[in-house]
Amino acid sequence: MDYFLTEEQAMIRDLARQISDEKVMPIRAELDEKEEFPWDIMKILAQSDFFGIHIPEEYGGMGMRGFEFTLAVEELSRSCLGVSTTFAANALGTYPLMLYGSEDQKKKYMPDIASGKRLVAFGLTEANAGSDASGVQTSAALDGNEYVLNGTKQWITNAGEAEIYTIIAITDRKKGARGASHLVKRRTNSE
Ligand SMILES: Cc1cc2nc3c(=O)[nH]c(=O)nc-3n(C[C@H](O)[C@H](O)[C@H](O)COP(=O)(O)OP(=O)(O)OC[C@H]3O[C@@H](n4cnc5c(N)ncnc54)[C@H](O)[C@@H]3O)c2cc1C
Repeated sequence: MDYFLTEEQAMIRDLARQISDEKVMPIRAELDEKEEFPWDIMKILAQSDFFGIHIPEEYGGMGMRGFEFTLAVEELSRSCLGVSTTFAANALGTYPLMLYGSEDQKKKYMPDIASGKRLVAFGLTEANAGSDASGVQTSAALDGNEYVLNGTKQWITNAGEAEIYTIIAITDRKKGARGASHLVKRRTNSE
């Protein structure tokens, strides 16, 4: 049923469906068997401007919302959940920046995310912080002008391939779960 979709939304859904059927479906088993990261598919999604669907136009995106992004995720999921999760995790990692990032941070990171040049990973989960996100133990402490992160995350989609990370860490332990902050970090070549 698509009676409630706008013309633009239907175009996103149809293009995502085409990519899903023609590009993802034929190689999905091979991706699983070889445990390969789907870079070729990510490039196709980037060329189709899909990484910028939910990102405001002033930062290089299409200025749409989560709903339009979800239409694309849904279509990719029909062929391969690995591919769709990889793609969807970018939005997960981008929203903290969009909602709470400084203007400088948004200008620095979002255009590269919108173009698909750099992937983002969202780091919340730890051994004792899954459903109960307040269990986060990773800390971040200021050392001069920089925060030093200390802790271990797990199950982070795109962790090995992303270049930008948005990480939840405790910056004020006295405040309990309310002492958590979201930090954004760009991976350097040496890391
Ligand atoms: C494909 C995939 C991709 C992921 N990508 C990311 C990512 O990019 N970034 C990230 O930070 N994390 C990611 N995760 C981790 C995900 O967020 C956690 O797996 C999730 O939060 C659940 O945590 P857990 O695995 O520790 O399970 P637990 O929290 O230990 O839960 C185990 C079971 O107990 C149940 N349970 C827990 N608490 C209660 C309760 N109070 N009452 C009743 N039942 C309860 C749960 O429903 C579940 O069935 C990913 C996970 C998957 C599967």
